[in-house]
Amino acid sequence: MSITIALAGNPNSGKSTLFNALTGSNQYVGNWPGVTVEKKEGKYKKDKSIKITDLPGIYSLSPYTLEEVVSREYLINEKPDVIVNVVDASNIERNLYLSTQLSEIGIPVVIALNMMDIVHKNGDKIDVDKLGRLLGYPIVEISALRNKNIDKVIETAISVAKTNHVHINSFDEDVEKYIKEIESHVSSVGMSENRRWYAVKLFEEDEKATANLQISDAERKTVEDIIKRAQEEFDDDGEGIITDNRYTFISSVVADTVKKGRSGMTTSDKIDSIVTNRFLAIPIFAAIIFLIYYVSVTVVGGDITDWVNDVFFGEMIGESVRTYLEGASVAPWLTSLIVDGVIGGVGGVLGFTPIIATLYLFLSILEDIGYMSRIAFIL
Ligand code: GDP
Ligand code: MG
Repeated sequence: MSITIALAGNPNSGKSTLFNALTGSNQYVGNWPGVTVEKKEGKYKKDKSIKITDLPGIYSLSPYTLEEVVSREYLINEKPDVIVNVVDASNIERNLYLSTQLSEIGIPVVIALNMMDIVHKNGDKIDVDKLGRLLGYPIVEISALRNKNIDKVIETAISVAKTNHVHINSFDEDVEKYIKEIESHVSSVGMSENRRWYAVKLFEEDEKATANLQISDAERKTVEDIIKRAQEEFDDDGEGIITDNRYTFISSVVADTVKKGRSGMTTSDKIDSIVTNRFLAIPIFAAIIFLIYYVSVTVVGGDITDWVNDVFFGEMIGESVRTYLEGASVAPWLTSLIVDGVIGGVGGVLGFTPIIATLYLFLSILEDIGYMSRIAFIL
């Protein structure tokens, strides 16, 4: 029996590390149709009938980024047999947000709890059995980087794919009742297979996800009424109600299952509490982006670009080529074409290289120290 497995998880959760460890050289990289998002597919080294797809890194299944849309359309339309949700155990609270959404797609989920080496090193303790019970997913503790337990992920994935049991996370009773109401009142095409997913998406008024549903006017009216009642009860829109409910659930799960080893806050926690602070985060973000722009475009862009244009291409290369060509009695129009046209023109473009290089350097530093994912979280 051939099985297809999709790896889903946050950026930097270690998906690619796991994917590489599982597939070795049996992989190929392309793009998702029509977009420039990278698509990686491969076969499990130890059993070529098992196909593995590495989905783009995402924080949520909302429709706001290309990666999110690509991932969810793949899951909904291609229906892999099982989702392996790679979770960075050292950042568990942020990672579980996506986990709570995956169950709604109607595909069995296994959590690969990655980076356990870091958790152990920090002296933190995670009650994995309890976490599994609360979330409803089988959990395999792994370290993708150290190749620990990765075959167990595949074994577990195969066994859940065979039973095909889908656990669905429910919301609090007062939110759940609205979702159930939508599930029972909307019977349109497409709803039958993926009722839960579409019911939540209708409640969130996620138009991209529900565009293919052929909903009758009467059903649309019913849904609008349900949402209106919920909005009055919670004083929030559908999407806000759902998001809030997921975070409340995750906080209580984490409080119940994760014990931090070190008492007090680590340096990283302290930095986090400032850069992801409700009030300070956006001003700090603006300041950092301004600084990067200033250093790249004004400091580097100013003097170094001028130097590249005027001194390097102008005086050093341009003038020496001119002297050489004039010495060789080349026609003045040709000398001018080469020196002012070709060298000046290429120089004018290459003058931007220091700016672009500096910008990319700063952006990759922000990505590597984890600031980008914090900003994504804040926004
Ligand atoms: P992706 O964005 O989900 O594909 O994440 P990557 O596979 O690129 O991994 C992100 C970073 O985490 C890389 O620097 C990996 O080397 C590192 N990493 C992945 N798995 C582990 C792990 O189990 N333990 C540790 N300590 N680092 C890991
Ligand atoms: Mg990756």
